[in-house]
Amino acid sequence: MMSSMGNGGPGGMMSFGKSNAKVYVKSSTGIKFSDVAGEDEAKELLSEIVDFLHNPQKYREIGASMPKGALLVGPPGTGKTLLAKAVAGEAEVPFFSISGSEFVEMFVGMGAAKVRDLFKQANEKAPCIVFIDEIDTIGKKRDGAGMGGGNDEREQTLNQLLTEMDGFDGSKGVVILAATNRPDSLDPALLRPGRFDRRIPVELPDLQGREEILKVHAKKIKIADSVRFDEIAKAAVGASGAELANIVNEAALRAVRDGRKFATQADFEESIEVVIAGYQKKNRVLSNKEKLIVSYHEVGHALVAAKQTDSAPVHKITIIPRTSGALGYTMQVDEQEHFLMTKEELENKIATFTGGRAAEELIFHSITTGASNDIEQATKLARAMISRYGMSDEFDMVAMENVSNQYLGGDASLTCSFETQTLLDKKVVDVVRKQHEKATKILTDNIGKLHEIAKYLYEHETITGEEFMKILEDKPMEIETPQENTEA
Ligand code: ADP
Ligand code: MG
Ligand code: ZN
Repeated sequence: MMSSMGNGGPGGMMSFGKSNAKVYVKSSTGIKFSDVAGEDEAKELLSEIVDFLHNPQKYREIGASMPKGALLVGPPGTGKTLLAKAVAGEAEVPFFSISGSEFVEMFVGMGAAKVRDLFKQANEKAPCIVFIDEIDTIGKKRDGAGMGGGNDEREQTLNQLLTEMDGFDGSKGVVILAATNRPDSLDPALLRPGRFDRRIPVELPDLQGREEILKVHAKKIKIADSVRFDEIAKAAVGASGAELANIVNEAALRAVRDGRKFATQADFEESIEVVIAGYQKKNRVLSNKEKLIVSYHEVGHALVAAKQTDSAPVHKITIIPRTSGALGYTMQVDEQEHFLMTKEELENKIATFTGGRAAEELIFHSITTGASNDIEQATKLARAMISRYGMSDEFDMVAMENVSNQYLGGDASLTCSFETQTLLDKKVVDVVRKQHEKATKILTDNIGKLHEIAKYLYEHETITGEEFMKILEDKPMEIETPQENTEA
């Protein structure tokens, strides 16, 4: 029965399922990247896929094959589905889409057959895009409990998906995009090379992103000339693209309700409250006080990095909460990859890790839980310096740990006596403390810049490496002191 269903084509299969459930649609979306505001990083990562779909021949001739799958990862409403459609629209190829949740509603045995059929169709229509929305619904980690249980159906569907992905020819021009807001719940099998091995982060928009999204959607309605999108974006802290689209529509509805022909600033402000108020309580949106602490913390990292020689330049700092759970992050990118690190470079890295906490201490005279990841990283490095890289006077070139994984932080097993371990632990503390003190000194010496950049970050939510360097090198500029709004 299964195989006949698989060959039956969509018409035949649908008669099996719930009356006329639309399981996938083939269409050219007509949506372009310009319909997606902000999200420049995601668009950049996706543009290579667009080029490939546009001209698979070019890649085939040289023998290159595209990654088969890319995974769009980010919170709900950030435009993942929209981006996937825009890839199809830009490349002008068919777009097959199916949502993980649709599988759940199907008859027993249907899931795997659907997957098989979907790929069969896609292969015939290549180049094209297959989009699997909410992939976590079918791609959850298998619990390894084995046979039985209620998960057989889902597991069969997942296995079929893996089989199809492995089976098809990467040069043919079928690209599989998937979206999820729960990347850590995915079965690792899905993320292996040759499957969804490209991850495209789609994060919540920052201040400027929010303004752009509002403008894209405001094109669809009539607005008064006096509307200030920057003000609206500022008030809509924590809003996703979907919520911003909703705010614009609410504003138009309010205008109609009041018998006006245009939406005004007041309409927008009122609708923010309607759309966002509940949301901010439900979700993790930083209070202004927290935002300020995170700003100083991140700039602490960045300043310590920038004021030491030989540390990687700051690429971007943001205080938009990430999908990973981090409240903010500072991204450094090395200009050149290098494979040997000197003792000084390692020490500088540790100092940079401690810079976030050091800034909190210096400015707020209290400390938070926000440094837990920094602490972990700094400890790992300091420990490796002593136990594996022979970078302490006490132990010379004696290894105290065996490592079964070549990368930093691999699985280590101790090879020394209990007494030595105790000494090693003490030494690790010394190394970290010394760098922490150095970081505090760097920040104290540059406290004006710390204030200036942290306030800039607090206001703009994201700051590029160039902006960072510009402020760092410039004479002091005038920045309004952020107000603390204790209600938020
Ligand atoms: P996700 O798939 O990440 O949950 P969607 O792509 O379904 O989010 O977004 C829902 C709607 O929100 C879109 O149809 C669009 O109207 C709006 N939207 C979300 N992000 C953006 C964006 N970056 N630019 C413009 N509109 C957006
Ligand atoms: Mg979606
Ligand atoms: Zn930190």
